[in-house]
Amino acid sequence: PHDDRGAPSPTIFAEMSALAARTGAINLGQGFPDTDGPASLLADAAAAIAGGANQYPPGRGVPELRAAVAAHRTRYGFDLDPDTEVLVTAGATEALTASILALCGPGDEVLLLEPYYDSYVAAVALAGATPVPVPLQWPSFTVDEAALAAAVTPRARLLVLNSPHNPTGRVLSVAELDAVARLAVAHDLLVLSDEVYEHLTYDAPHVPIATRPGMAERTISVSSAGKTFSVTGWKIGWLHARADLVDAVLAVKQYLTYVNGSPFQPAVARALTLEDWFVSAADSLRAGRDLLVGGLSAAGFEVSVPEGGYFVIADAAGLGFADGRALCAQLPTLCGVVGVPFQAFLRPGAAASSLVRFAFCKRPEVIAEASARLARLAG
Ligand code: PMP
Ligand code: GLN
Repeated sequence: PHDDRGAPSPTIFAEMSALAARTGAINLGQGFPDTDGPASLLADAAAAIAGGANQYPPGRGVPELRAAVAAHRTRYGFDLDPDTEVLVTAGATEALTASILALCGPGDEVLLLEPYYDSYVAAVALAGATPVPVPLQWPSFTVDEAALAAAVTPRARLLVLNSPHNPTGRVLSVAELDAVARLAVAHDLLVLSDEVYEHLTYDAPHVPIATRPGMAERTISVSSAGKTFSVTGWKIGWLHARADLVDAVLAVKQYLTYVNGSPFQPAVARALTLEDWFVSAADSLRAGRDLLVGGLSAAGFEVSVPEGGYFVIADAAGLGFADGRALCAQLPTLCGVVGVPFQAFLRPGAAASSLVRFAFCKRPEVIAEASARLARLAG
C-alpha cells in the first residue's frame, strides 16, 4: 500500500506504535513483550559476540541451530535431517515471504484464512499471485470446511495456515487441522504453516499440521525465536520441509538476506532446550490473557477468549462504537490506550468492523492500568 504522495504507508503495527509514542498512550497495539527473555539467552548472545561469532554464518544457518531446531521438533514426532530439511531465516517473516516467492507465481491462488497477518498478503502480491481470503466468523473464528472447499479452484497452489492465530488467538483443533489436511491432499495443495506462537497456548497444546495424515510432505512449517523467547527484535526464524522445498526457498532467501544473525543463532540453539522457560512463558501470558479478558469485559466489550498467542479480539459495538478503525484513531484521546483495528487483518474494501485487537504480552500492572482506562469508555 502507498499513501497519497506515493510513499509506502507504514504497516498498521508501526502506525499504531507511532500513535502510542506520540500520545503517550499505553501501547496494546503492536505485539511485543515489555520484559526480557531468558537471562541465559541474552548472556549467550553477548558471549557469542565477544567470542567472535560476527561474520557470515553458513547459508542454511549455523549447524548448531539447525540441529537444535530438529531436536526441538522431535516433541511433535518429527525426525528431521538438519542438513537438508531445516533452514534458518531472518525471522518468520522471511521464512513466509521466501516460501511464497519460491512456490507461487502469476496465475496461482493462495488461500488465506481471514483475518490474516499482514505480511501474507503482501508476499502474495510480491509473487504476483492472487490471494483468496476465506472468512473465519466472529466470535468462534472456527474453520468452516465447506467454505474452505468452496474457495478452492484448479488454480489453488498454497494455503497459509496460522495456529495459534494472530489476531484471533484461535488454536486450531485436530478436527479443524484434519479438515484443512483433507482439502490439501484432495487438491494437491502445499501448506505454509505459521507456528510462531507454538509455545504460547493456554488451554490445549499446539499441534503442527505437518503431523496430520498426508501433510509432512506438503507442509512448510515456520517458527521463530521472537515470540518464544521474547526477543522480537532479534529476527531469528526457521522453517522445515521436504528437502527439495527447502532448496527452493533457500534459492530465494540467499538473495533476500543471504544469511542473518550469526551471534544470535548459537544462543537461540541453546535456548531451545529451556523446557522450564516454555512453561513459565505460557503461564505468565495466560495470566495476562485472563487479566485483559476480565478488564475488557468489565469495561463493556464483548470478548472472544483467546486460546493462544499475544492478542484478544474485543467488540466495541455494545459501547456504541460501530467502526473499530475510527475508534482506534480516537482511543488515545478517549482513554489513553492504543489497540489495532480488526479491519487491518481483512481484505481491502471489507465492511467496517466494530472489533479491536488488544495485546496482552505486557506486565500485569500495565494491563491493569489499561483496563482501568478502558473502563472510562462506558462512562
Ligand atoms: N507470523 C505471525 C502470525 C506474527 O504475529 C508475526 C509477528 N509477530 C510474525 C509471523 C513475524 O515473526 P518474526 O518477527 O519472527 O518475523
Ligand atoms: N506481529 C506483530 C503484531 O501482530 C507485529 C510485527 C510487526 O510490526 N510487523 O503486532
